[in-house]
Amino acid sequence: MAKFSFEHSFEIDTLKRLIAQYQGLFRHQSLLDLHYRGEPLSVTAIELGKQDAPCPTVLFVGGVHGVERIGAQVVLAFLGSLLNRLSWDSHLQALLKEVRLAFVPVANPVGFLQGSRSNGNYVDLMRNAPIDAEEKVTFLVGGHRLTNKLPWYRGKKGMEAETQVLVDYVHQLQDSSTSVIALDAHSGFGLSDHIWFPYAHTRKPFEGMGYIYHLKQLFDRGYPHHGHYKLAPQSHFYQTHGDIWDYLAQTNPSSNPFIPLTLEMGSWAWVKKNPRQIFNFSGYFNPQKTHRHHRILRRHVVLMQFLIEAAYANVLENINQAQFERLQADAERYWAKKP
Ligand SMILES: [Zn+2]
Repeated sequence: MAKFSFEHSFEIDTLKRLIAQYQGLFRHQSLLDLHYRGEPLSVTAIELGKQDAPCPTVLFVGGVHGVERIGAQVVLAFLGSLLNRLSWDSHLQALLKEVRLAFVPVANPVGFLQGSRSNGNYVDLMRNAPIDAEEKVTFLVGGHRLTNKLPWYRGKKGMEAETQVLVDYVHQLQDSSTSVIALDAHSGFGLSDHIWFPYAHTRKPFEGMGYIYHLKQLFDRGYPHHGHYKLAPQSHFYQTHGDIWDYLAQTNPSSNPFIPLTLEMGSWAWVKKNPRQIFNFSGYFNPQKTHRHHRILRRHVVLMQFLIEAAYANVLENINQAQFERLQADAERYWAKKP
């Protein structure tokens, strides 16, 4: 008999199925072996594409928060699509000769099985990196060390194993790449789709903002009907302690571009259309009607495809110093004020 409901293990099972079905087409490794109620689990990383020499890398992360299942599903659906196309799509084959694509679709598997935002120690991984907000943060939500019985708990000193292996893995990618773009898929904030970039711990402008501004211009021009994303520094919304991407931006072992983007899918819109979801904790973070679910899985494909095309075209690598300085100045002007 299955120990866990189908709903709770769906993403973990999907990942296992993809690995069983397509092994040989990619490299996969367990970054961390875990157990939950006797069940062996792992934080799995999958890599496709160029391996040996430094190259542009795009990393897709999902499931940092166990209740935000749709994030893992969006990443798994995109990975599945790439794997299904690989046998005939000559453009994708060419892209993978030049680019590394990395996936950590379920970063917090215990959180999935226990149906919690936190990991098995009730620590919120996105508040757990060793970095403190510069200003006073929103009570509880910004991260706290009061008790693991309250959400957004930062943990005691030190990183949780899940945080540590993600940090180590990204450092390794940063070290072996000419650029790294990371997209970390979450849900639950607001009515519309947001994309946040550093910093979460300070209002100070992110040093890589010029690159993000450049990507924004290319995306807006190339996909003028996909303007549903609100792109801004996270500190425009709230500041937090312990943000993993802030920490990785500040500890990048290479001087090459590192662009961490957090996709916050606007789940309140799903709730508005189906108010019953309010009474269902999981439904608050995840669309429940089939047509809506398909729409969400579809909705971000253009963005993800754009990011890998941008990597293939070396758009970040091709920016020279003078251009970057102009872009950075434009970006700082553009994001100087909150919307
Ligand atoms: Zn989240």
